[in-house]
Amino acid sequence: MTEPIIDGLGMGPDGEREAEENEARPWRYRLALPALLAHRTAGLFGWGAASGFRIVHFHDIPDEQTTAFTLFAEAVVQRHGTIAPQDAEAWLAGTPPDWAAAPRAGRLPCLFSFDDGFASNYRIARDVLAPLGIKALFFIAPGLIGLPQDEQRERIAWTIFDGAVATDELAPDLRLMTWEEITSLKDMGHTIGAHGMLHRQLTRLAGDELDWEIIEAGVELTARLGAPAAWYAYAFGDIGSISRSAIELIDAHYRYCRSGVRGVNDRATAPLALRSEDIELSAPLAYQKLTAEGGLDGFYREERDHLDQVVSPLPELPDDDDDPDWQGPGAAAGQLSQPAGKSSDSGNA
Ligand SMILES: [Zn+2]
Repeated sequence: MTEPIIDGLGMGPDGEREAEENEARPWRYRLALPALLAHRTAGLFGWGAASGFRIVHFHDIPDEQTTAFTLFAEAVVQRHGTIAPQDAEAWLAGTPPDWAAAPRAGRLPCLFSFDDGFASNYRIARDVLAPLGIKALFFIAPGLIGLPQDEQRERIAWTIFDGAVATDELAPDLRLMTWEEITSLKDMGHTIGAHGMLHRQLTRLAGDELDWEIIEAGVELTARLGAPAAWYAYAFGDIGSISRSAIELIDAHYRYCRSGVRGVNDRATAPLALRSEDIELSAPLAYQKLTAEGGLDGFYREERDHLDQVVSPLPELPDDDDDPDWQGPGAAAGQLSQPAGKSSDSGNA
């Protein structure tokens, strides 16, 4: 089951389009509530993962979806509880937080994460995450930060949305966070991870270009934020967007890699094959809850197997997450050379 990459991004909304969408409401949304009730009943009889944690991820959250996000976040805090990135790291190393260790099918704690670095993420962190006490992961493509407005919008359309949307169809105020906003997120206690240097699909790159996209993203984040970037989320997140050569580079420079493949994470999950749930904020709350409770896991078994195959057998996995030699992105490869045409200060412009 493949879902559209830009599903739920809420671009260019207008009343007319919304009405059309409601009319064409997908069957999976209409069945969400009965499916959720059935899923919860099955959980009572021991069906589903009893321990572990889930990562949930979001992209741009336009103003009109703030309420949907808030309702979802409140529901997660109440039913599942949330964990911070540091808790997830400890869990993967074998030490879950005490309160979350007891088996509780369908109520696994969630780690919130945000992809692409949209300016709306900063607003959400300040207005919604802070009051709820949620510490999250934000994945940034450093080469897109600080570009002149027109160039950044073109990059958003062509690399983040992969050309599925024209630049002039983007919401007029759509932009990425500034370095000041990203630094401020870090100061609020959130974790900043790399999302590629320019958000390019790794399976379309090779050689120096692949090196640069993966390694330089972490080198730049580390230089900007003053702490080694340990987390990577590869652009697009599906199994068609990750390769063995890419994962070997990620393994050499980062400690954790989050995919967009659905499923539970626990001690047995390779830290470079972490699963995550894309939450569709345009979907009914019951569908979002079904997603966060693992109701879609069954559709992604093959993708999970494929992902595990790509990362395996990497030497020392999954036990190298306490590697005392890890020094951060770039440390293993020394000075990187840049592919022709890429400016070293693309993030400063
Ligand atoms: Zn992305």
